[in-house]
Amino acid sequence: MIPLTVPHFNGNEWKYVKDCLDTGWISSAGAYVEKFEHSVADYVGARHAIACSSGTTGLQVAQLVAGVVPGDMVIAPNLTFVATINSICHAGAQPILVDVDASQWQMDLDLLESFLDCETELREPADDESAVKQCVHRSSGKTIRAIMPVHVLGVIGDMHRLVEIANRHGLVLIEDGAEALGSMWQNQHAGTFGSIGVFSFNGNKIISTGGGGMLVTDDSEHARLAKHLTTTAKSSPNEYFHDQVGYNYRMVNVLAAIGVAQMENLSSCVAKKQSVDQIYRERLSGVGDIAFQGCDPRCTPNSWLFTLRTGHMRELAEHLGTQGIQTRPLWVPMNQLPMFASSLYVQEQDRSRQIYDSGLSLPSSVGITLDEVNCVCDAVRDFFSLGND
Ligand SMILES: *Cc1c(COP(=O)(O)O)cnc(C)c1O
Repeated sequence: MIPLTVPHFNGNEWKYVKDCLDTGWISSAGAYVEKFEHSVADYVGARHAIACSSGTTGLQVAQLVAGVVPGDMVIAPNLTFVATINSICHAGAQPILVDVDASQWQMDLDLLESFLDCETELREPADDESAVKQCVHRSSGKTIRAIMPVHVLGVIGDMHRLVEIANRHGLVLIEDGAEALGSMWQNQHAGTFGSIGVFSFNGNKIISTGGGGMLVTDDSEHARLAKHLTTTAKSSPNEYFHDQVGYNYRMVNVLAAIGVAQMENLSSCVAKKQSVDQIYRERLSGVGDIAFQGCDPRCTPNSWLFTLRTGHMRELAEHLGTQGIQTRPLWVPMNQLPMFASSLYVQEQDRSRQIYDSGLSLPSSVGITLDEVNCVCDAVRDFFSLGND
């Protein structure tokens, strides 16, 4: 079988894990957590990085640190993995779902802007002496505290425009960069445009620790609070004194050891993913009704997971399945899930649905061989030469 996307270990993973086991430092203390944090911070060009138990918990903590309180609203795209929107609920807030654009499948900034212009206003908070204006959703009276773009499949939309929109409307910008470690917009790394960025090291991501996440930020107070909250909010090194309800969201040392080794190879993982993406695009362009995810020339994506669109998505998936080629549809759009069906959904043409109905991801592992990529391409071409166009 050619799997969709599996982790790849060909560096110092065994050595560093063995070191943890040999020395007994497997759990919540140990040197690899800090090493891993430093290597991610250095790589993306952020001042601080805080390791945590998953991308999902990282997103929740990012919102708490950014000041999201129960009853707030948080804006996010409608086409994403469910964890993005779950994390908004975990933080006690309600999601506002925004449809995506037809080309790059990222949050549609035109729709976003017209929603913010028409349906929200900046108000002075009654009880806040700092007098930082807040974005209020007029019809519900709720505060929209933050906006959480997702770099869908590693592609980055126009971040400079998004930063400007967020600033103008008083929104804290948190990037869900779970799929985008290594992607850049105008030579700046994903995760570093807003107040906080979050990465995931789940088994299917570009590098993996089995499970884990990382927050990155330039704000030292945000960093301090994120570390504090993810480690049970213990305020004294020697006493069990905790100054708020914290979380056990820390990353353990043995997983961080895998992360340190994975980071040593991240650049080559990105290069490999990009070359796989390029082969798919060259060999599949013009085949049947196939269309590709677009990408602004200012973006250099990490090409995490190659995904095409075709009107014959289900049949193609079945055809490839019979040849031992694993594929996946995109995520069911958030507005179609029962728990978010009544959430506010900002849309005109429900493009999320169209992209979901036609999107199919193809095998894109870092360890995939050229022969395997060609085998997938041949199978796709076969399918369309059988008259499915
Ligand atoms: C994987 C992923 C997450 C969640 O990360 P976990 O580490 O699995 O919790 C969040 N958002 C997006 C877009 C993802 O792809």
